[in-house]
Amino acid sequence: MKAISVLGSTGSIGTQTLEIAHECPDQFKVVALTAGNNLDLLIDQIKKHQPEVVALAESKNLPELQKRLQNLPNKEKPKEIPHLVAGKEGLQIAASWETADLVVTGIVGCAGLLPTLAAIKAGKDIALANKETLIAAGPVVLPALKKSGSRLLPADSEHSAIFQCLQGTPFTDTARLSTGVPTPGLRNIQLTASGGAFRDWSTEALKNATVKDATSHPNWSMGKKITVDSATLMNKGLEVIEAHYLFGLDYDHIEIVIHPQSIIHSMVELTDSSVLAQMGWPDMKLPILYAMSWPNRVETKWKRLKLPEIGQLTFRDPDTSKYPCMQLAYSAGKAAGTMPAVLNAANEEAVALFLKEKIHFLNIPKVIEKTCEKHKQDLKADPQLDDVIEVDTWARQEVKSLVEKGTDEITMSTIGE
Ligand code: NAD
Ligand code: MG
Repeated sequence: MKAISVLGSTGSIGTQTLEIAHECPDQFKVVALTAGNNLDLLIDQIKKHQPEVVALAESKNLPELQKRLQNLPNKEKPKEIPHLVAGKEGLQIAASWETADLVVTGIVGCAGLLPTLAAIKAGKDIALANKETLIAAGPVVLPALKKSGSRLLPADSEHSAIFQCLQGTPFTDTARLSTGVPTPGLRNIQLTASGGAFRDWSTEALKNATVKDATSHPNWSMGKKITVDSATLMNKGLEVIEAHYLFGLDYDHIEIVIHPQSIIHSMVELTDSSVLAQMGWPDMKLPILYAMSWPNRVETKWKRLKLPEIGQLTFRDPDTSKYPCMQLAYSAGKAAGTMPAVLNAANEEAVALFLKEKIHFLNIPKVIEKTCEKHKQDLKADPQLDDVIEVDTWARQEVKSLVEKGTDEITMSTIGE
């Protein structure tokens, strides 16, 4: 029985993790939950999973949660009201909760960094969905893992696929994950990408892209931020950096392949030229379950993959001119140091502004590029945690002021005319 802490329990990753825990009561027990503002869902989760501790992102919501739990009818009340905490410190308490063995990181964005580091310092294994943490702070996270002995198990579907493919190679355990050293036997990685919401749109048509268009993913049901990242292909760019930190390959050996059916979740090419792929329906529960159960396989009754039902699997190279975010991510990854943190923060801010309809879809890469360009002169090659936090704050502010200045290139009105 593994005791798990679920960070971001009310989100897409969080709710799927809890579904798995509910389906496999002999395997997993939920001891900690953290959430943002969705108190209704959180209270349902507390009733169902009876965690020992619950953390809210914002302290202002704590009195209401306390009151609502106390006022539950007796038959709905959890056996014990969980220990309730809030704010940055509260998230770290839940992430490093003593009885937890494994922490599933389903918080979105760099907000996941401090709780994930707290979990690593406490020696917990990590099922990593929150890729932004590793992208922004790879040079901080990797040494922290080494020091504590915690294992970073990928829950992102592509990285789970690579991890699964590598189980049969000399790479048989996670001891070599995230060391910054190339994985033995591994020559190349091919990350597959569905192509996102705009894969069948022309570059010209993107001028008319709306928030509704960008948040409708053809294959996966996910949170809003990652759905927009899929539409810009920044998600794939971020995953290239994630793969670099997890598997130690140079950027020249990590490729992106468009695979519209999302059945092959990624491929590895080994040094003898053998290529291995992992397949499954586009359903995040499988990679989450594998990160939770590794090195074991849990039996499920989930829909089995029958390839004749799909008929054809197709592949093509991505269009780099249509998706500039991919190239921005490769460049930031190669620049290393604090640059991936700047790329990530600028992207988070740009996507947030796009979702509020303050900038046009096509301006997302423009503001990110300008921000990364400006950071070149201040790049720190070997950043500490404080450096990462500082550049993260700077990049968000930089994006906001670029948009406020409203230069011809950035304003909403100049696109789509
Ligand atoms: P989501 O928006 O659905 O959920 C985010 C969760 O984090 C919610 O519980 C929310 O309350 C909480 N949260 C948001 N801001 C917070 C803050 N500032 N502090 C603390 N908690 C906060 O997001 P998601 O789609 O579940 O994605 C979560 C992470 O998993 C992201 O890093 C994403 O890139 C990654 N991921 C998601 C999927 C997917 O299928 N959804 C796939 C691969 C990777
Ligand atoms: Mg992914």
